[in-house]
Amino acid sequence: MRRKLAAGNWKMNGLRADLTQLATLAEQRGYDVDVLICLPATLIGSCAGLPIAIGAQDCHTATHGAHTGDISAAMLADVGATHVITGHSERRTDHHETDAIVAAKSRAAHDAGLITIICIGETLVQREAGTTLDVIDAQLAGSVPDCATADNTVIAYEPIWAIGTGKVPTTDQIAQVHAHIHARLTARFADGAGFGILYGGSVKGDNAAAIFAVPHVTGALVGGASLKAVDFTPIIAALA
Ligand code: PEP
Repeated sequence: MRRKLAAGNWKMNGLRADLTQLATLAEQRGYDVDVLICLPATLIGSCAGLPIAIGAQDCHTATHGAHTGDISAAMLADVGATHVITGHSERRTDHHETDAIVAAKSRAAHDAGLITIICIGETLVQREAGTTLDVIDAQLAGSVPDCATADNTVIAYEPIWAIGTGKVPTTDQIAQVHAHIHARLTARFADGAGFGILYGGSVKGDNAAAIFAVPHVTGALVGGASLKAVDFTPIIAALA
């Protein structure tokens, strides 16, 4: 059975002094879940030796070349990253990343030996229009490359209206989308039933247990509450 994953996303937060938070997290041994923190690229190389998985938040589609300011998946792997988030809604919005770009980045990450956390999710307008599952279908079809396997890919369902807002879907709404994603992956990939499917969007210590009890939720992608060990630890504990 796939191990559960508590994944943090620090976004554009964190200086070297803040890595003490990871040292504190690393002391929380004994939980039978995988813990991952996706850091700004500037901090990844400073984490060697910490008994905690480290990921990045984006990578380029190319292995190297004339792409000023960009970072390739191989470079991230070289400094110790094991995972990379692709298709986060903030990148889809801020950098106009399409499903095709997300799929290309995910392929590049797999080629470099990284595990991708591919983010999908609907806007509030789409939810209220009743098109959530259509949006999910289009993003799964367009963003998840054919080379995805249960070993190299985790899906994160992140309703955009729940990210950083304190709003969380009902457990019935999460259950419906996660069951749908599980069914679609099972239909498309030989090992599709084994893909991890994270929920993301305003997960906190006080709502984590209810979310983790939903079928086909194998963990969480956590933004704000992953920045401080004191906030992230209860979420890890709820998953264990
Ligand atoms: C995220 O950035 O992926 C996220 C889920 O953020 P938050 O937990 O702050 O809503």
